[in-house]
Amino acid sequence: MESHRKENYDRHHHKKPWGISLPSLNFLDTLRRDNRQFAVIGLGRFGRAVCATLHKLGYDVMGTDIDERLVAQVITDKIASTAIQLDSTKPIALKEAGIFEFDTVIVAIGNFIEESIITTLNVKEFGVNCVVAKASTEIHGKLLKRVGADIVVFPEYEAGCDLAYTLTKPAILERFDLDEENSIVEIRIPEEFDNKSLAELQIRARFGLNVIAIGDGDKYKINPSPLDRLHKNCAMVVMGSNRDIQRLPI
Ligand code: ATP
Repeated sequence: MESHRKENYDRHHHKKPWGISLPSLNFLDTLRRDNRQFAVIGLGRFGRAVCATLHKLGYDVMGTDIDERLVAQVITDKIASTAIQLDSTKPIALKEAGIFEFDTVIVAIGNFIEESIITTLNVKEFGVNCVVAKASTEIHGKLLKRVGADIVVFPEYEAGCDLAYTLTKPAILERFDLDEENSIVEIRIPEEFDNKSLAELQIRARFGLNVIAIGDGDKYKINPSPLDRLHKNCAMVVMGSNRDIQRLPI
């Protein structure tokens, strides 16, 4: 990889400013419960997308915004169970709307930094267990963490990185970052692996990667044996360091 491209790759790939650190996994138990109720504060494009998707998945979701037209639109579009107009910088307004009773609150106010910080502080101070906040810049993200946000997301940044990966490595279909250096990726099997067995390809010895599943077009075989053969245009799932994954001929 040319050095400037490698630097970019390292910067974006190894230093993800969002995500959940291993020590804070406890609160993920909240995310696993089925009967969870969500409140989304801020009904811009991001907030509406969160509302609509949670609602489509069958969850109870309340949408709120300071702008009553956006609240009315959410009701018209039927993308939330309820929607209320309120100023989320006012704790009393949040209390009256029952926001503090929700176990997960998404603060989807990206562009109004002060409002976003105050809102996050309010919902955390009044005991909401899981608060997800959208950040527009790195410093905004740091401030959100400081005031207690459990998860900070950078949707534009994340979408930009994903697009760059897709454009430069279209063979990577899915990726799951384990930490700053290691990932699990689902990749399209390259031409030069076609009809070769794992034993012949020596992927662990040559690339330092573990193949954890191989696809046959329909289904995945988990923990494949060394005799299993790979087929081009099918997919496989490998785990290893990002550096080693980059060395695959894809
Ligand atoms: P995107 O479409 O990317 O989500 P946007 O410009 O639509 O961006 P933001 O500017 O991040 O959204 O704001 C999201 C919403 O937050 C806006 O609809 C805005 O009215 C709302 N909002 C801003 N301040 C407050 C507040 N104090 N209380 C409640 N809602 C607020």
